[in-house]
Amino acid sequence: MPDPQELRDISIIGGGPTGLFAAFYAGMRGASARIIDALPALGGQLMALYPEKYIFDVAGFPKVLAKDLVRDMATQALQFGATTHLGQVVTGLKRAEQNGAGHFVLETSEAEYPTKTIVIAAGIGAFAARKLGIEGEERFEEKGLYFKVLDPKQFTGQRVLLVGGGDSAFDWAVNLQGIAKSIMLIHRRDGFRAHQATIGQVQEFQRCGKCDLRTFWEVKALQGNGRVERVTIFNSKTKEEETLEMDAVIPLLGFHSDLGAIKEWGLDTEKADIKVDQVMGTNVPGIYAAGDITSYPGKLKLIATGAGEACIAVNNAVHWINPKAKVNPGHSSNLAIFGQKDD
Ligand SMILES: Cc1cc2nc3c(=O)[nH]c(=O)nc-3n(C[C@H](O)[C@H](O)[C@H](O)COP(=O)(O)OP(=O)(O)OC[C@H]3O[C@@H](n4cnc5c(N)ncnc54)[C@H](O)[C@@H]3O)c2cc1C
Repeated sequence: MPDPQELRDISIIGGGPTGLFAAFYAGMRGASARIIDALPALGGQLMALYPEKYIFDVAGFPKVLAKDLVRDMATQALQFGATTHLGQVVTGLKRAEQNGAGHFVLETSEAEYPTKTIVIAAGIGAFAARKLGIEGEERFEEKGLYFKVLDPKQFTGQRVLLVGGGDSAFDWAVNLQGIAKSIMLIHRRDGFRAHQATIGQVQEFQRCGKCDLRTFWEVKALQGNGRVERVTIFNSKTKEEETLEMDAVIPLLGFHSDLGAIKEWGLDTEKADIKVDQVMGTNVPGIYAAGDITSYPGKLKLIATGAGEACIAVNNAVHWINPKAKVNPGHSSNLAIFGQKDD
């Protein structure tokens, strides 16, 4: 078992799909690696926000559940011995020296991790769901008030109030059909950010009485003895109020994300993203970035692009550590590390 605090070649901040693929590539190149993540589980947005949703645009998978993709990416990523350090927010960055050579030290609340290079795959930062902003809501968290749906079966036979006008709220208004006893979806405006096709589906459910879709309604108060039992909603136009019996309230209002301490590291940023060059290098030599956190002309925030960027970042980090190591990894189908022979 390697010492978790030993000097590693590459430390990856973030165990989302990009960080996982970076760990795989590090192992394939023979570089020692670790992943540090603030969340208690690997998978980033896929596990935290939409584990039960199908993804259709990952190469090689006509469709794949987010949680299944994470499971397989983690198996692929960890096969070479990369260690994972979960539930730890990276807060600080220092420089240190060992045997005359300089390196970085990443600091978390729990430990210090010496490393020759860093790949920042921190996605949208350490993120937290947007709250309703009503008094006392924290009392009901996970007691009838949920900011994400991890397992839809949890809502079997329940009266569910969804709040929001984006993809998540509309997707769950569709996906909880046949599971929840009743579904109401309220939004504070009459414009929606969800896909038109899903909006159409929900409007169709409304026409046949399977969903109560209301605009200009917001949550005013939650009531109940130890868990949500009733919800008061109000109409911001008419000032009308209604108190409804409800088992579950699911606000899907997006999330705040915060680069946190990473902002203080002297990295060039654009809004909340880190600027990178063609090799995914930041303005600080030895620090690379990949995935949703990066900004460059033409950037697309997708799992597929994050994987490509992880590959570029890691191969360049390997070359940066040892200039004799080629940037080009060669073809995995020919590599001895997988028991293959050169063509
Ligand atoms: C509802 C929804 C559906 C989506 N559907 C698709 C789809 O169908 N296809 C597609 O390609 N993309 C989809 N996406 C986008 C996709 O999820 C992202 O592009 C992808 O997750 C980015 O991966 P990442 O590893 O770069 O970042 P993330 O998945 O955000 O992972 C970053 C990780 O870094 C950690 N982290 C951040 N800051 C710190 C810190 N300071 N210390 C420690 N850890 C830290 C976070 O906890 C997180 O686990 C969807 C997104 C959402 C929200």
